[in-house]
Amino acid sequence: LAKANDQLPKMLQPDQVRLVISYLMIENENMRKRTSDLQANLEHSQRQVERLKSNLAVAEEQGLSDVLTGLRNRRGFDITLAGEIAGAKSGAKPLSLIITDIDYFKAVNDRYGHQTGDDVLKWFARILSANMKGRDTVARYGGEEFAIILPQTTLDNATILAGQIKQQLESQLWTKPGAPNTNLRITASFGVAQLNPNEGTSGLIQRADAKLYESKSTGRNRVAA
Ligand code: GH3
Ligand code: MG
Ligand code: MG
Repeated sequence: LAKANDQLPKMLQPDQVRLVISYLMIENENMRKRTSDLQANLEHSQRQVERLKSNLAVAEEQGLSDVLTGLRNRRGFDITLAGEIAGAKSGAKPLSLIITDIDYFKAVNDRYGHQTGDDVLKWFARILSANMKGRDTVARYGGEEFAIILPQTTLDNATILAGQIKQQLESQLWTKPGAPNTNLRITASFGVAQLNPNEGTSGLIQRADAKLYESKSTGRNRVAA
């Protein structure tokens, strides 16, 4: 094309000009094809990038959530707690943590089997989730132990919430699916702590955990703050 562009002004004979023009037409058609191929390739690549991005988001989400309950897992909990603590400190806002553990859960597994134990865990997770609002996060901290991160919440209000959940559990029976005569009273113990200005994740978790231990050792189905 550059050559044709160079020679065209020097040509005088109509035949020569016609030849160059027909050459230009062919080249133009080739270029149009190449452009449309490139466009198709580009669109294909864009779709591929979108697909990879969405796969990555799913993988990331799965890495942070618990398969059984759908709640955040321990890793998701750690990340969320670190972020919320940083936010609470920079905004000089309170933040509280509840750690709760199902009472005598091993007995549920032993008596009714692991599958029923799993069903109870899912049911328990749903009750906790139903009590969350705003920026609250509930996570499965370990086997039958759950943690609730409460940004902008004082110790008093977190203690009230833990008491409400305790009461909801006490006031209903869990019925085994397909076995309406199996009614279990599932209770849990709670430990509550509010973030101190000079502490980080581990200090807060340790204090909430110590309170949970207090609830357990003073009879279970209790809230300690
Ligand atoms: P406590 O009142 O002191 O908390 O007693 P507990 O029986 O609840 O506590 P313990 O630590 O003795 O037993 C916890 C049980 O939880 C043992 C373990 O097999 C069970 N568990 C942990 N993860 C799962 C799970 O994903 N599914 C089921 N079905 N059971 C689980
Ligand atoms: Mg337990
Ligand atoms: Mg436990």
